[in-house]
Amino acid sequence: TVKQPTQSLVEKDLQNVWHHISAYNEKSQPMIVDRGEGAWIIDHNGNKYLDGMSGLWAVNVGYGREELAQVAYDQMKKLAYVPMTQSHEPAIELAAKLNDMLGGDYMFFYSNSGSDANEVAFKIARQYHQQNGKGARFKFISRYRAYHGSSMGALSATGQAIRKYKYEPLSHGFLHVAPPDNYRRPKGQSIKEYNLQRAQELEDKIIWEQKETIAGIIMEPLITGGGILIPHPVYLEKVQEICNKHGVLLIIDEVICGFGRTGKAFGHQHFNLKPDIITMAKGLTSAYLPLSVTAVRKEIYEKFNTGEENSHLRHLNTFGGNPAACAVALKNIEIMERENLFDRSAELGDRLQKELKELSNHPYVGDIRGLGFLLGIEMVEDKITMEPASNERVLKIVSDCKANGLIIGKNGDTVAGYNNILTISPPLSCTDEDLEFMIAVLKKVFKENE
Ligand code: PMP
Repeated sequence: TVKQPTQSLVEKDLQNVWHHISAYNEKSQPMIVDRGEGAWIIDHNGNKYLDGMSGLWAVNVGYGREELAQVAYDQMKKLAYVPMTQSHEPAIELAAKLNDMLGGDYMFFYSNSGSDANEVAFKIARQYHQQNGKGARFKFISRYRAYHGSSMGALSATGQAIRKYKYEPLSHGFLHVAPPDNYRRPKGQSIKEYNLQRAQELEDKIIWEQKETIAGIIMEPLITGGGILIPHPVYLEKVQEICNKHGVLLIIDEVICGFGRTGKAFGHQHFNLKPDIITMAKGLTSAYLPLSVTAVRKEIYEKFNTGEENSHLRHLNTFGGNPAACAVALKNIEIMERENLFDRSAELGDRLQKELKELSNHPYVGDIRGLGFLLGIEMVEDKITMEPASNERVLKIVSDCKANGLIIGKNGDTVAGYNNILTISPPLSCTDEDLEFMIAVLKKVFKENE
């Protein structure tokens, strides 16, 4: 088949499609992606790029999986749609499978996106407290730099001011505390001490805000989109203790960390945690179809549907738990288990970190950190002052990588206006050759930018 020349597509695109800012804010030609194979995406001109971000941290099993296309096709032909008010086998089997992965104590509510899953979590938490006789616990605490979604509630929980301030007023009752940023901790303080202090600040917030008003705390196991901030285990374990002590629900956002990204099935499994609510999306289907889920501890679920008037969750969405999406999720998990991708993620991440260790001598690299196949490279202007690298410097690395066939991301502290952390989150299905390619490009680009 003859492809349309890219230029005409670009023009049509510019005339009709409203993109997220990043599609057209680079000086280079925007990319119109034609197809994907394994860890690679191919544009309309036939250029190949290793997708070092898995799209938006999502395509965990890689592109072009026929099994996933087939299972979606088969399911759509058999039964394309069932509303949430009924049930169907793929939804039932998927919830049972997820429960096996989590140890069996959860109930699962389906929706379509990570934002949706977090909205559902907030509604469940508020209603739970009311029906548990605990009155109006309505506030949520999250962290600065965290991203939890773009709908009004999820955006309220998001701790990145730049994404929010033009849409005020947002939901009432969303509070923020600082996350541990170990690289930038005060001089002389140990990582452990610093993490305990950050957790203490969270407890102080709960107390100052009147603990009887706090419904829940939402956090990722590690902050991803805000610049790969990995806590010391004492931090999350202390957070769990604080939640238990004050009757606050612990909501863990596994939208990015879930499904192998950090080298385990779920990011929170690195720590000794028992979340009350867990939200998942992206890697659940490896983004082949939209699906998300809010997992809720049975003890919480039992306060719903008690027979008392209006004790059920008032949340409905048309597409939630779509049969084809559920069937794809099941097959996606089967692929991950068959190919041992959770362990593979840990292995690839270790190798990537080891190979890139030498970059810590680079004049503009302040810190390299990661967990599983998820890496952050924090760029600075000056290693001593740790002044964040300029946007131009960071963008140069990103665009040089792209010119060499590797897509990487940049994230950071948008509250302070810095976007100085390069992020790398490739498909877990990367081959050894893919990994070597990625390492070679990064080394070359950093060398050229010394
Ligand atoms: N939580 C986290 C941690 C995320 O990274 C994202 C998306 N980047 C979301 C929630 C929202 O997911 P979605 O874009 O599917 O609404």
